[in-house]
Amino acid sequence: MSPALLEVDRVSAGYGAVQALNEVSLHVQPGEIVTLIGANGAGKSTLLMTICGQPKPRSGRISLAGADITGQPTHAIMRRGVAQSPEGRRIFPRMTVRENLLMGAEALTKDEPGPQMEQAFALFPRLKERLWQRGGTLSGGEQQMLAIGRALMSKPKLLLLDEPSLGLAPLVVKQIFDAIRRLNAETGLTVLLVEQNANQALRLAHRGYVLVNGRITMEGPGRALLARPEIRDAYLGGG
Ligand code: ATP
Repeated sequence: MSPALLEVDRVSAGYGAVQALNEVSLHVQPGEIVTLIGANGAGKSTLLMTICGQPKPRSGRISLAGADITGQPTHAIMRRGVAQSPEGRRIFPRMTVRENLLMGAEALTKDEPGPQMEQAFALFPRLKERLWQRGGTLSGGEQQMLAIGRALMSKPKLLLLDEPSLGLAPLVVKQIFDAIRRLNAETGLTVLLVEQNANQALRLAHRGYVLVNGRITMEGPGRALLARPEIRDAYLGGG
């Protein structure tokens, strides 16, 4: 197996008395889409945030392309090629779509942002149509497209997506997931996706992990996980 792009090795993390992650280990290979599913409060967002440096792990090790990034500040981790589209999108509502996109580039690279913006438009033509519109006036689906487009502006090696389907209509979820699939297939971008929408997310993924109360309980190819009765019962309403 080629060396992992991301390796999380027995990481524990939390907030004060709350232990949100308990010895979590997972790896993401270059070019993979890996999905982490889990119920509300399982620790999914905490894992993505810990990979980004906040909160810091209490124990364990995180490495990126073989380099130890455990305990590094967020900006240093971003500079190494990690970008996140956070839960709830967190776009800047009073800025235009264009300004939102440029925020993703300015923080990290002095390169000409044009080609990255074109990549975002190719993925989500709607963003180009809405270029001069304020972020806060976009629909939920458009805001999600903007959040992903903004994350791409820093030319990441690893894209972290926190519940991109949250609150969106099924047709819009399909558009977003199709775009992630295309992005991965066409550019080879590596993706770690956190979702409660287990069905679609595991179909999209090469591999998946299940997080329960801060611990990884299962892992395997996305479709193999989908076929397991305990996954169907717990995350797919038994269907
Ligand atoms: P959701 O899908 O609801 O976002 P999640 O799987 O992403 O859930 P986390 O948000 O990572 O779960 O939360 C894991 C645990 O950590 C929960 O018990 C939560 O209450 C707790 N937690 C999360 N953020 C904080 C915080 N800032 N301070 C204290 N506890 C927190």
